[in-house]
Amino acid sequence: MPPTSRLFRRAAVAALLAAPAAGLAQFHVTGPAFYGDAPDATHPWSIHDRNRPQPKRVEPGTPSLPGQPGKPPSDAIVLFDGTEASLAKWEADTKAGEPAQPTKWIVKDGALECVPKSGYIRTKEQFADCQLHVEWAAPKNVQGDSQGRGNSGIFLMGLAEVQVLDNYNNPTYADGSAGSLYGINPPMVHPLHPPGEYQSVDIIFRRPVHKDGQLVDPGYVTVFINGVLVQDHTPLEGPGGHLRRSKPVVFPAKGPLKLQDHGNPVRFRNIWYRPLPPRPIEGGTDGGFLTAEATAAKRKETAASIRADAAKLKTGSVAHMLRLAESLIYEKDAAAWTQVEKLAVAYAAEVKALASPAAEARKGEITNVTKALQYLAKFDLAPKNFAPIGVLEGVAKAQGWDLPAKQNKK
Ligand code: MG
Repeated sequence: MPPTSRLFRRAAVAALLAAPAAGLAQFHVTGPAFYGDAPDATHPWSIHDRNRPQPKRVEPGTPSLPGQPGKPPSDAIVLFDGTEASLAKWEADTKAGEPAQPTKWIVKDGALECVPKSGYIRTKEQFADCQLHVEWAAPKNVQGDSQGRGNSGIFLMGLAEVQVLDNYNNPTYADGSAGSLYGINPPMVHPLHPPGEYQSVDIIFRRPVHKDGQLVDPGYVTVFINGVLVQDHTPLEGPGGHLRRSKPVVFPAKGPLKLQDHGNPVRFRNIWYRPLPPRPIEGGTDGGFLTAEATAAKRKETAASIRADAAKLKTGSVAHMLRLAESLIYEKDAAAWTQVEKLAVAYAAEVKALASPAAEARKGEITNVTKALQYLAKFDLAPKNFAPIGVLEGVAKAQGWDLPAKQNKK
């Protein structure tokens, strides 16, 4: 059940009262502590965890128009922006061991155009998992048919081809259609503009991952053409290819993006990518299905950062006690618990001795500490019968406070 806005506001205000003056740079204390379900063996963060890093701000781009490429998002790595200068990011796709050569593809009217029989083109930069944006246009002057019309290709890591083809009123074998994973899977539909017009392609690519010689993740490709989904998390089954059934192969850590010369003067524009964070299988520490080892490591790191943060606070202050207590959510630590225990016992004794008006004046703080200790007990981070909890609950009862205690009890 989501909290009522009233309860949430109260929790947020209480958290603000307890929040330290300044947290570590990588932590963003923006919500209530001691709130949602605690971390567990495969989840390093609690639910609604205020210590979980904030997503970075990205300025969104703008959509492309037929005669005008859009603007990439602010964190995109631009591979071709229509200028001659960005052609320097590309080279001819020479064979392994051969020296690099400039490409013979040309920049014309803001487009990177394939010069037939000049060979594939590849980026000098190498990368792997990514969100990739490419726009292409088949020649307006329609020539040929089937695979001979407006054929090129987007080769992810130089290996797996997302087919580029003028399929507008031009049938071909389905697994070689525009937007197919060539030789693996056809696109679900053909959402193509007529030849001569730009098609916008957005790809989400995850490479296959092997560990100790075993395939642990086949890799996946999702493709949108002109905003229409054509590949939905399609497993790779290897890189695909012509005529032969694709078999899983070990992909390198990185590879270039390649564009195909299939003998047609296909044009490209507005090519950019955004690298994707590692998956849990590769050591990533966010998302679901983390390993126990990765989870424990992340929890330990978080706890250490919070303890470092706590060390900057006035020793023995309520904020100090609560920040130390918060570290226990991520990692049990005897020294931190001993301090919290000692401070909580002293705190409860002090509060118990307060006259009613003095307790009333500190209602928010006392409530916050009570909730924190209840939370620790609920998640077995403090003894269920931890004496200060009973003392503070007794004070709340005597004061007639509506302590939001029961919500935290199992
Ligand atoms: Mg092709």
